[in-house]
Amino acid sequence: MPACRHCQGTYPREYFIHGNGPRKDVCVRCGVDKGLVEESEVPAYYSKDLANARINLRARRYSGFLWVGVLWVIWISYFGNIPLWGMASGIALLLISLVLPVQFILGHAKYQAKLAHLTPSYERPKGH
Ligand SMILES: [Zn+2]
Repeated sequence: MPACRHCQGTYPREYFIHGNGPRKDVCVRCGVDKGLVEESEVPAYYSKDLANARINLRARRYSGFLWVGVLWVIWISYFGNIPLWGMASGIALLLISLVLPVQFILGHAKYQAKLAHLTPSYERPKGH
């Protein structure tokens, strides 16, 4: 994988702008930042909105595990000792903990489809 000469990042070939001279070995993001190309010229560019939407999607997918972890810490700290309420909330939390990984696995295809929808389509030109 080639490295960008401005940010030293290594990306697949489709994330580089085309041309020689100052445009040689410059990634799409650095090309747009330094004014070498317009945003509309580079289909592989992840705009701010697109990047935010992707992070949002990813956060929504993985946040369940964070919340279950937080709820377990709260349950162990405060509710574990209460006889009836502690038992009921513990069972509910246990059920959530068991359902969450199943839901995570079953939602994989939907997540991949949404992520593909948020990925700019780009065909690698001939010779690259
Ligand atoms: Zn770069």
